[in-house]
Amino acid sequence: MPAEEAPTMRTPAAAEERCAECGKLLTPTDRVAAGDRVFCTSCHANLRQQIESAVQAMGEDINYANAALGAVLGGVVGVLGWWAVTVATGWSIGLIAVGLGWAVGWGTVRFSGGKRSQGLQILSAAVACASWVVASYLVNMTFINRALAQKGDAGRVPFPPTSLDMIGMVLGAGFGIMDVVFLAIMAWEAWKMPRPIRVAPPAAG
Ligand SMILES: [Zn+2]
Repeated sequence: MPAEEAPTMRTPAAAEERCAECGKLLTPTDRVAAGDRVFCTSCHANLRQQIESAVQAMGEDINYANAALGAVLGGVVGVLGWWAVTVATGWSIGLIAVGLGWAVGWGTVRFSGGKRSQGLQILSAAVACASWVVASYLVNMTFINRALAQKGDAGRVPFPPTSLDMIGMVLGAGFGIMDVVFLAIMAWEAWKMPRPIRVAPPAAG
């Protein structure tokens, strides 16, 4: 139970400050500023404890199967979006790469129940990279098949690919530095979404 404060007899100073949590009058020795609010020492310690345990819970009891499902679903949506936009416009733009990475990261966090951990980051980034391979394959396949059809060639690049060689060949077609840039953007977007939240260490003094 919080102890009742003895009524203070000081005259209200211009700079009178009260704890944002319990309303206690603050003194220079019993005052902690956190963000744009000030707290008494004990309220600040309590809040800090609550935040720390909430953050810790985010990294515990992670259902990786659900997280993987969410990541893959996000990847499927992102890949289809990328494919559709690229084929329709003929452009690969960075914004779609951001969207795909974001979708994978969002799916990972969402389906794991709002969890965050380094394991989830690795999962998310790995699924994003796999999504990039699929998206790049689909886009190149479409353009190659279009070119084959225009030449009257009956051959078609199939999906799914029938061999690793075929994946390499299709991905290698028109491969450029921008592909690497998009891969990096995507992996980064997917990586940062489930990043564990770090509580800043207590201020010295
Ligand atoms: Zn307080």
